[in-house]
Amino acid sequence: MSIDRRSLIKCGAAGAGVAIAASTLPALAARPRKEAPADAVGMLYDTTLCIGCKTCVVACREANGKPPDTSNSPGRLYDMPLDLNGTTKNVIKLYKDPDGAERSYMKAQCMHCIDPACVGACMLGALQKRELGIVTYKQEFCSGCRYCQMACPFNIPKFEWSSRAPLMDKCEMCVHRVVKGQQPGCTEVCPRKAIVFGKRADLLAEAKRRIAGSPKKYKGYRKGDAPRVYGETEGGGTQVLYVSHVPFEKLGLPDLGDKPVPEVAQTVQHGIYQGFVAPVALYAVLGAVIMRNKKAEGQKGKAS
Ligand code: SF4
Ligand code: SF4
Ligand code: SF4
Repeated sequence: MSIDRRSLIKCGAAGAGVAIAASTLPALAARPRKEAPADAVGMLYDTTLCIGCKTCVVACREANGKPPDTSNSPGRLYDMPLDLNGTTKNVIKLYKDPDGAERSYMKAQCMHCIDPACVGACMLGALQKRELGIVTYKQEFCSGCRYCQMACPFNIPKFEWSSRAPLMDKCEMCVHRVVKGQQPGCTEVCPRKAIVFGKRADLLAEAKRRIAGSPKKYKGYRKGDAPRVYGETEGGGTQVLYVSHVPFEKLGLPDLGDKPVPEVAQTVQHGIYQGFVAPVALYAVLGAVIMRNKKAEGQKGKAS
C-alpha cells in the first residue's frame, strides 16, 4: 500500500484540526521530482552483516553528546533504548518471526530523504536539507509543534518528553563530524561494516553489486519479490539505503511507492492555514517561542 494524501490525514497524527482542514484541501499541484545532489552522502545498512552488538548506538550517543536512556532498565542501571526517542538518534531492534525461523537486526535513524516531508512540514525552517543532502535540525528555530513528526513517513523525529521545554531530536548524519572530514559515529565503529558511510551514488552501486553477487541471499519488499535496494526510489529516494535478507516490510520499513511524500505534508499544512483569519498572530506566538528557545540555549551555553 502506498502512502497518499488520504492515508496521511487518516493516520490521525494531526488530529481533528487536520481532519477539518483536509476537507478544504486544494488539488495537489504538480511538483517536480527532486534528485539527490551530486555530492550527496549517505549510509548503507546491510542486515546480513549486523550482529546486533549496538556499538553504533553507544557511538551515536558519544558523537552527539546524548545521555544514556536507562528508562527501561530495572534499577535504571543500563542504557536500554527500545526505540528512537528524545535522547536516542539511532537504535538497533531485533525482528523475529513468530516461529523463529527468520530473524534480523534493524538499524533505525533518519533516512535523509531526497525530498524530505519533514522539511516541507516545518513552517519555521528548523529542518532543512543542506550541504551534501543532509537533513539538519536547528532547535533554536523549532516551536515544538511536531508537524515534522506527523509528516515523516518513517516516524523519525522524536519529541523530548522528559524535557521541561521539549523540542525535537533526530539523526543529522553527524554533519558536525562529516564537514570536518570524519565519519559519522555509527559507521566509524561498526565492527562488521554493516553500516557504512560514503557518497550515495557509490553506496547504491555497492548495494546493487552485493545483490547481483548473492541474489538468493537478499530480499525485496515482500516475500517472493525480487531483491532490491530499499531507499533507491522509495518515497522519492533516501540517502540511507538498506539491503536485507528479510523482506523490508518485516523490518517495519514502509511501502511508500516511488512518489515523494512532501507534497502531501505541504498540502495538509497549507490547508490548515488556508482558513485562518489571523495567521500573523499565530506567527507572533511562534516567534515568541523561538525567542524563548534561543534564550534557553544561551543560558545552557553559559552554564556549560
Ligand atoms: S555496530 Fe554494526 S554490527 Fe553492531 S549493531 Fe551497529 S550496525 Fe550492527
Ligand atoms: S526520514 Fe523523516 S525526519 Fe528524516 S529526512 Fe525523511 S522525513 Fe525527514
Ligand atoms: S549518523 Fe550520527 S546521529 Fe545518525 S545514527 Fe549515525 S551516529 Fe547517530
